[in-house]
Amino acid sequence: MPPKFKPQKQQQQHQKDGAGPRVVYWFRTDLRLHDSPALAHALSLKPSRLVPLWTWDPHYVYRQRGSANRWAFLVGCMGDVSSALARLNPRQKLHVVRAAPGKVIGPLLRKWKVDVLVFERDTDAYARTRDAEVTRVAEALGVKVVAVSGRTLFDSDDVVEANGGRPTMSMAQLVKAAGKLGKTAVPARPVAAPTTLPDPLDAEDMDLSDIEREIEGEGKRVDEENPAVAGGGGGAAAAPARPGGDFNAVQRTLAHGTHTHTQYRVGLMGPDRTFSVPTLQEMGIDPHDVTTPHVGGETAGLAVLKRYIVDEEYVGTFEKPATAPTDFEPQATTLLSPHMHFGSVSVRKFWWDVQDVLEKRKREKKHNSAEPVNLPGQLLFRDMYFAAQAKVGVAFGQVVGNPVARFIPWHLQSRYAVVKSEQGEGEIQVADGTYVVDDPQAEEYFRRWKEGRTGFPWIDALMRQLKQEGWIHHLGRHAVACFLTRGGCYVSWERGAEVFEEWLIDHEPACNAGNWMWLSCTAFFSQFYRCYSPVSFPKKWDPEGRFVRRYVPELALFDKKYIYEPHKAPIADQKKWGCLVKGDGLNRKIENENENENENAAARQQQQQLQTYPKPMFDFNERRQFCIDKVKEAYDVGLYGDDEKVRTGEWKKMFKFNDRGAKVKEAANGSMERGVKRSRDEEGENEDDTGENADDNGDDSDDEHEHGHGHDTEKKSEKNKRGKRGQKTLDTMISRKKVE
Ligand SMILES: Cc1cc2nc3c(=O)[nH]c(=O)nc-3n(C[C@H](O)[C@H](O)[C@H](O)COP(=O)(O)OP(=O)(O)OC[C@H]3O[C@@H](n4cnc5c(N)ncnc54)[C@H](O)[C@@H]3O)c2cc1C
Repeated sequence: MPPKFKPQKQQQQHQKDGAGPRVVYWFRTDLRLHDSPALAHALSLKPSRLVPLWTWDPHYVYRQRGSANRWAFLVGCMGDVSSALARLNPRQKLHVVRAAPGKVIGPLLRKWKVDVLVFERDTDAYARTRDAEVTRVAEALGVKVVAVSGRTLFDSDDVVEANGGRPTMSMAQLVKAAGKLGKTAVPARPVAAPTTLPDPLDAEDMDLSDIEREIEGEGKRVDEENPAVAGGGGGAAAAPARPGGDFNAVQRTLAHGTHTHTQYRVGLMGPDRTFSVPTLQEMGIDPHDVTTPHVGGETAGLAVLKRYIVDEEYVGTFEKPATAPTDFEPQATTLLSPHMHFGSVSVRKFWWDVQDVLEKRKREKKHNSAEPVNLPGQLLFRDMYFAAQAKVGVAFGQVVGNPVARFIPWHLQSRYAVVKSEQGEGEIQVADGTYVVDDPQAEEYFRRWKEGRTGFPWIDALMRQLKQEGWIHHLGRHAVACFLTRGGCYVSWERGAEVFEEWLIDHEPACNAGNWMWLSCTAFFSQFYRCYSPVSFPKKWDPEGRFVRRYVPELALFDKKYIYEPHKAPIADQKKWGCLVKGDGLNRKIENENENENENAAARQQQQQLQTYPKPMFDFNERRQFCIDKVKEAYDVGLYGDDEKVRTGEWKKMFKFNDRGAKVKEAANGSMERGVKRSRDEEGENEDDTGENADDNGDDSDDEHEHGHGHDTEKKSEKNKRGKRGQKTLDTMISRKKVE
């Protein structure tokens, strides 16, 4: 429990407005009023005045990737919480201040004569640095700072401590550690939402005009002067210096890349000087670019939760591996993840609402599914990744320096900058937001994967759903992540994590990096010989191909026999169904390569009206074997991200990895059209015409919920055993494979 507030003498003179302290409640990961332990603590201080604050932080605006869909979801959450505050007290709202918290909070606490600053604890790498700085500044002013846990079921730092100071690398470790925190591994019950709120300061006291000049343009400078920006596949990295400025420039289609967005040009208090929630237009984002049907906000989130909770059969029998990744409208799982991310639904409320249903069904002697495949199990996975990241820190989102990540010499690896650790660990290497194109073909695979033009309809449908809607089912994420890394393209998981960071509306640094490591067999999971087939896996769920027809509409009329392998359809049928399977998917214009000189004009015209869909970009079976062999070699060598040889680049000799003369690319946001154009200009045309007769032997897997090795990252002796253990695991796997 947070300590009780004792007003400090020097702060008391301003308390003409009442007996209680002046409190700033800083919203960040908790855009809700229900079950907010931190907000409940702020109100328990009985504030005379309460300012609900949001800082529009340039770090997230410029340095973390995000598409229009996620910005719209965030703005929806902010607007909804602001309205909820106003419903409790018409003078209240969410007060949005447009500046970096480290710069603005000090002057603002001084100006508003604040006694206590309260917020929900955030263990993301960037957040820890930010909060340490803000706390230092606030405490120097005599302001009490209280951080209260509430973002996860169990406090992540407490979990790490209970796990012997180690990251939680398996569900078993998480449950055991959580069990040590109380009598059982059960989170605290939700706290009630407030029913009243104190006033904010009077308007003239709130006004920040006189401190505006001091800090105004903080964000503008970040954009215009191209100073330090953060990289890192996890998106939460500290800030190594590199030129390039705004990761999201390409999203600002209203601004046409001319930096004409106004979010930091309108003063600290916004265009109407009322601390309003920023609009998409202010960010330079065209509202027409928002294509997600999913709506942000506590109201919408609680409605979604309720819809599932009243369906007791759904809650009681939920088994994640049995939910179809091909279902849409409605999808098979809850789609509460973006609400978990922005805190618009409390994770503890979710857990307890489900638990109450499970207990009722138990009393009624009805069957309940069990952890970890049931709904509480899903939330425990979330806690597992949070606690792992809480321990590992910034390196959790990248390979180099990451003690839990096996080193695999993927194509398209991140480049690193050396920066001073904010946590006092000396110098550390942090991914700088660029990557090395050691293999132009891998770069092409990556770009085609990103835009959903691989020629594998299942993969393409998922990637297009991701881009359009900002969400895909967990097993869909498995499929595309496996395909990009160890099950096809052999591209670094960090590239995939960056694309997810850009397009997911639920992007969560800990869960994203953790799951990418799982799927690439880098950490948490090691059965690399089990790959998802892009043909037989979806066929099991959706033999008619409804999902593909929805998201790859050019294939809508194809017979189900060819829906997952359209290149095998006879040309006459392809024409009949309105789509020719040809080309590499990078140039959508119909080429004339197959046209007969004597073909009459009418036939040519008819063909020009046909759509095209690319041929498969490789033979899946060949690529799968290639990847398995490469990953096996890496497991045999047995390096981890924090090994000296990885940090110094000596691994290149060990793996005969040649990247001499390779180009460096910026891992910027945006669509392939732009990227490929640039890449083709630089690297020349590379028409891919593989996989004409790709056959599929259907070795797919459902590797959900298997546990990692959970090795101790601290003990050196343990580290020295890694190579051998890797070998042993591998031997076990190979013998299993033989049996299969
Ligand atoms: C490569 C990859 C990247 C991913 N990136 C993210 C991410 O950035 N953000 C994110 O929230 N999830 C991520 N996930 C995990 C998971 O896919 C999503 O949480 C889930 O699909 C969200 O849908 P849902 O809300 O319907 O889940 P449900 O099945 O309804 O589960 C309920 C809740 O449990 C949590 N949860 C479920 N599965 C997981 C999991 N494996 N890991 C962590 N939490 C889980 C989520 O908060 C989810 O809302 C990723 C998975 C993969 C394979």
